[in-house]
Amino acid sequence: MKVLKFGGTSVGSAERMKGVADIVVNDEPKIVVLSAMSGTTNSLVAIGDKLYADDKSGAKRAIADLEHKYFDTVQSLYIADEFKEKANLIIKEHFDFMKSFVVNVFNLFQERALLAQGELLSTKMFHLFLEERGVESALLPALDFMRINRDEEPDMEYIREHAAQEIDKRKGIKLFITQGYICRNSFGEIDNLKRGGSDYTASIVGNAVNASEVQIWTDIDGMHNNDPRVVDKTKPVAKLSFDEAAELAYFGAKILHPQSIRPAAELGIPVKLLNTMDPKAKGTTISKETGEGLVKAIAAKDGITAIKIKSARMLLAYGFLRSVFEVFERFKTPIDMITTSEVAVSLTIDDTSNLDKIVSELEAFGIVEVDNDQSIVCIVGNMVSETEGVAINIFEALKNVPIRMISYGGSRHNVSLVVDGEYKQKALQSLNDGLFNF
Ligand code: ASP
Ligand code: MG
Repeated sequence: MKVLKFGGTSVGSAERMKGVADIVVNDEPKIVVLSAMSGTTNSLVAIGDKLYADDKSGAKRAIADLEHKYFDTVQSLYIADEFKEKANLIIKEHFDFMKSFVVNVFNLFQERALLAQGELLSTKMFHLFLEERGVESALLPALDFMRINRDEEPDMEYIREHAAQEIDKRKGIKLFITQGYICRNSFGEIDNLKRGGSDYTASIVGNAVNASEVQIWTDIDGMHNNDPRVVDKTKPVAKLSFDEAAELAYFGAKILHPQSIRPAAELGIPVKLLNTMDPKAKGTTISKETGEGLVKAIAAKDGITAIKIKSARMLLAYGFLRSVFEVFERFKTPIDMITTSEVAVSLTIDDTSNLDKIVSELEAFGIVEVDNDQSIVCIVGNMVSETEGVAINIFEALKNVPIRMISYGGSRHNVSLVVDGEYKQKALQSLNDGLFNF
């Protein structure tokens, strides 16, 4: 069994849904996970905001606007009037439900039910579309098997058992369709896996059914080796290991929801990132195996704050770092990168909401310096410490870029640097030119 997930743009129009059908209709057993049509979840969030603000007429208008978009899609998605009518009835049912929220005082339960409508609609429409084409498929209602526990983590035991039951009920079916993003919580209420959560659904379902592969279909040709918005000449990375992909996750490698591959990785299930606009392209495969070449990808994160604490008390003392870290812990501020010397420590944070308080407490330990607008540049690859030459290539490439911090050896897969934000572009381009052979 394979799990194939299609994002919002991949099901964003009648035309694109037909493209999805071209990819999924074959003899291979599979579960297809769909997002809401692109823009829908944003519209639902906006409708929710209007309802919370008691803007009833605004909410009604926004619901009607969205409903029209769906009626329009129906006209080009289906051929026969009979199927257009069936689809319109589905749409009407869901939008009548949404309209029913306009009369009451809006609450959290209704908001979550509202947010679930996008995926419920896209999956039902796609299922009906396959039916018109004469393709046998079955809907697996995510609300019958996807569940999160009290800690908002997937309840894997429950999901495994119930997914199997739902599949067993539909004997002889090879093509299943389910909703991404939506689930129930530990109280049995409708809930969701947070925005962008459909990738996570795919990976959880992959784990639950012990899939041979999870495919994440978007409209980009895989994960690139550098940020194409900032750097010339980037290319998709063919293979990444789970560890390498995890290092990149913090950098918001936009194509993948950060937590999303964990459930698949736990069972060693390969995750492929593929492009609906170019289905034959190889994309990126994330698996236990790493690909060729030492350096796989470079990523950066902006808006980083670097803090340096310099203190003679640090020299030959123990407990100093703990007292420093406790300050950050007290203000629930994660530290991302850290470098030390004998008498000073530098670290970075990206949540600065308590920066003033943190700094004033840190001043008890020594001299504190804060640099705003820094960027973390991260070089990810299979850079085992036994390998010679990786560091020199990195620093050779960066010979004209001032570096504020370097972190090497924290893991076998990552070298991180902090540069002033104004040098980020130069750092990324120099590393691109120096580390990848074009
Ligand atoms: N439809 C949801 C969202 O837009 C989930 C997803 O697409 O992954 O956030
Ligand atoms: Mg997405």
